[in-house]
Amino acid sequence: MSTAADAVTEALSELHTRFTRLRDGRPADYIPQLARTDPDAFGLALISMDGHLYSAGDAGTPFTMQSVSKPFVYALALSVLGLDEVSRWVNAEPSGEAYNAISLEPDTGRPDNAMVNAGAIITTALIPDTPAAPRSDRILDCLSRFAGRRLDVDEQVYASEAATGDRNRALAYLIRSTGPLPVDPVAAVETYFRQCAVRVTALDLAAMAATLANGGVNPLTGDAVVPEPVAAQVLAVMATCGMYDASGEWLLRVGLPAKSGVSGGLIAAGPARFGLATYSPRLDPSGTSVRGRAALGALSERLGLHLMHNPALAASTVTLVATAGDLPAAGAAPQDRALRERVGVVVAQGAIDFTAAERVLYALDESRTQGAGPVVLDLGQVTGVDRVARAMLRGGLGRIAAEGVRTAVADPARRLALPGPGQRGAPPDPRSFATREQAVAWCAGGPAG
Ligand code: GLN
Repeated sequence: MSTAADAVTEALSELHTRFTRLRDGRPADYIPQLARTDPDAFGLALISMDGHLYSAGDAGTPFTMQSVSKPFVYALALSVLGLDEVSRWVNAEPSGEAYNAISLEPDTGRPDNAMVNAGAIITTALIPDTPAAPRSDRILDCLSRFAGRRLDVDEQVYASEAATGDRNRALAYLIRSTGPLPVDPVAAVETYFRQCAVRVTALDLAAMAATLANGGVNPLTGDAVVPEPVAAQVLAVMATCGMYDASGEWLLRVGLPAKSGVSGGLIAAGPARFGLATYSPRLDPSGTSVRGRAALGALSERLGLHLMHNPALAASTVTLVATAGDLPAAGAAPQDRALRERVGVVVAQGAIDFTAAERVLYALDESRTQGAGPVVLDLGQVTGVDRVARAMLRGGLGRIAAEGVRTAVADPARRLALPGPGQRGAPPDPRSFATREQAVAWCAGGPAG
């Protein structure tokens, strides 16, 4: 059975199909082990703030985090030391340079930000290191909590980078030579290599991004991994610095805090909305996944996700998920009661955009207790439905109706009706009634006619 929330999976699958055709770029090979990955692996994943998972393609294929680890280790440093202390050692200005550039302030030697290697190495060095809790264990624990499951290190990739990572070692020596650091970046660079070699899937990365988007609370486990202000600080730095010298262009066009890594991982976060991740190892010259960049850009446009466009959303969209049998039914005959028992009812309220529509579609599926029962969507308390949400709701209801099941909306304001004259070939309007009771009565009235 198709489910209503498949609208999200469908969007991901469509992008997967569309961008699989992109064959530009190739996997990184300056870390020799990374050159051995399948260049055509391609996965996408999205996790909502309610912990709903959506994916397409190779979303369960493992790869190493590389630079996608940087915002999460920065989050750990901020939670342990606070923004003021961390900012003494690493700035938060876009460098406009490549990830491995010598981006150090001339007077202080402070790296420009924690998303470029120089800043990430210092950030790793700032994580306290004690015999009871070694720095690399603390980092792996923290990354695991962001992902919501125990992660491990790909020892082969680690060894491969440790054997060839002299540029990063040189950066660490340079940092040590420029300023009075409280910690040793030269020792920390090995830990930095280990954090880069932590193994994840696109689904893990989506959970990690969703945790940042969800104020530091993992939506899958409920674990408060970092305090809310820290999550916001990290997202801010990702927004301005996460895509290196392409950060401004990315914020302009895609409009989401993001972070890329040279193994082909790419994350983006919609604050209070979702975490997104893609995996495809074909890289552009700046070290960002070609397909990931294209897919996230298209998804942002298609689903209206640009940060600067989105109005604030009321928290609860769905106010009731039940069957009509649970609702008062004045004057319903006993034989009608049995029929009403089969009718799922979802009541929504407020303004409906992509995020809210996803919740409604999910609730529609939930309400169908008997697997294939009829369903009523009550929009009587809805204040607005945007273009994307209207298409999603119409699509979700249409999918259920296509199974030969009655679906109806209580839509007194006709918010699901398409504006303008109906287009030829467009799917039909959902069956619409002025009240919930009328919609329930119709749905309870036997097989679809
Ligand atoms: N481990 C890699 C490096 O330091 C990470 C770089 C990246 O993903 N951009 O070179």
